[in-house]
Amino acid sequence: MKTNRIQFQAGLSLNQFLAQYGTESQCEAILEQSRWPHGFHCPRCQSQECCTYRRGRVKVFQCSACRLQTTLTEGTIFHATKLPLTCWFQAMYFLSQTKNNVSILELKRLVGLSYPTAWRLKHKLMQVMFERESTTRLSGRVEIDDAYLGGEHPGGKAGRGSENKVPFLAAVQTNAQNHPLYAVFTRVKTFSHDEVAQWATRTLVPTTTVVSDGLWCFQSVAAADCAHQREIVGQGRKSTDMECFTWVNTILGNLKTAVAGTYHAFDFAKYAHRYLGEYQYRFNRRFDLARLLPRMITAAAQTGKRTERWLRLAEDQC
Ligand SMILES: [Zn+2]
Repeated sequence: MKTNRIQFQAGLSLNQFLAQYGTESQCEAILEQSRWPHGFHCPRCQSQECCTYRRGRVKVFQCSACRLQTTLTEGTIFHATKLPLTCWFQAMYFLSQTKNNVSILELKRLVGLSYPTAWRLKHKLMQVMFERESTTRLSGRVEIDDAYLGGEHPGGKAGRGSENKVPFLAAVQTNAQNHPLYAVFTRVKTFSHDEVAQWATRTLVPTTTVVSDGLWCFQSVAAADCAHQREIVGQGRKSTDMECFTWVNTILGNLKTAVAGTYHAFDFAKYAHRYLGEYQYRFNRRFDLARLLPRMITAAAQTGKRTERWLRLAEDQC
C-alpha cells in the first residue's frame, strides 16, 4: 500500500545525519553550496570573483569587483545569528524527520537552546516552509472543506462561525487511483465569496474539478475557471461519512491530531498560517523523507532575512 511505503521509508537516521552534518565545517560547506549552487555571487554587483578570509570563526567573502564583504548567513534566514550552524542544522533535522514535528519547547531541550532562541529558530524555519509553499498549485480533482483550528465541535460543521476559532481552507488533490497527492491549508479571515474566489485564483489551476459540500461560498471557485461538484450533506448524514470527502477528512483529522499532540499553547490566531504552512510543507514532501533535510537547507539559504519583530507582526503578512 502506498501509505505504508510512505510511513515505512527509511528517512535520514541520526547516525547518517551526524556523519554528513555533524561538524561546523560540514554545515558551512553545505550552506555555501545551497546558497550559491553555481559558485559565489556578490549580493550587490553579481560579480563571481571573490577572496575569502576568516573573521574569528566566520568565513568572510570579499567581492573582487566592488569590495563588498559578506558572509554565508548575511541576507538569509540565518542573518545575524549567533548560533553555530550545527544548531540550525540539528533543528532542521528534527523539524524534517520526526513524525509529528517538534514544538518550541522540545526544540529548546533537544538542541540545548534558551526558549527565546528556540522560538526565533522555529518561527524562522516555519516561515521558510510557509513561503516555499505559497506557490503550490493544485489541479485535476481537488476535495475542499472549511476547517477550524483551536477546538472544534463534534461533527465539525457545528463549529462554523464559532468564536475564537481560526478558520482555514483545506484542499487535497487526488490522482486517478484516488490517492492523495498534495494538500494546501490556507488561513482565511472568513468563508466569504470574495476570499474563496481569491484563494481559488491563487491556488487552483484552471479546469480543476473542485469537490465540496454545500457551503455557499465554495461556488466562487468558478471565478478561477474551475468546475464545481457540489455534494450536499443531507440531514442525519455527515460529510465524514461521504466517500467523496474521504481524503480531505482524513488529512484534516491527521493535521488536527498532530497539532493538538505537539503544540499545546500557541497563539493560533496570530501564527496559524505559519503552523499550517509547516504542516503543508512536510505533507507535500512526504514521499522522500531523506531528501527533506537538504531541500529545507536550500530553501532556508534562499529565503531572505526575517527579523523577530517582523515575525511577531505575523498577522499583517497573511
Ligand atoms: Zn560586488
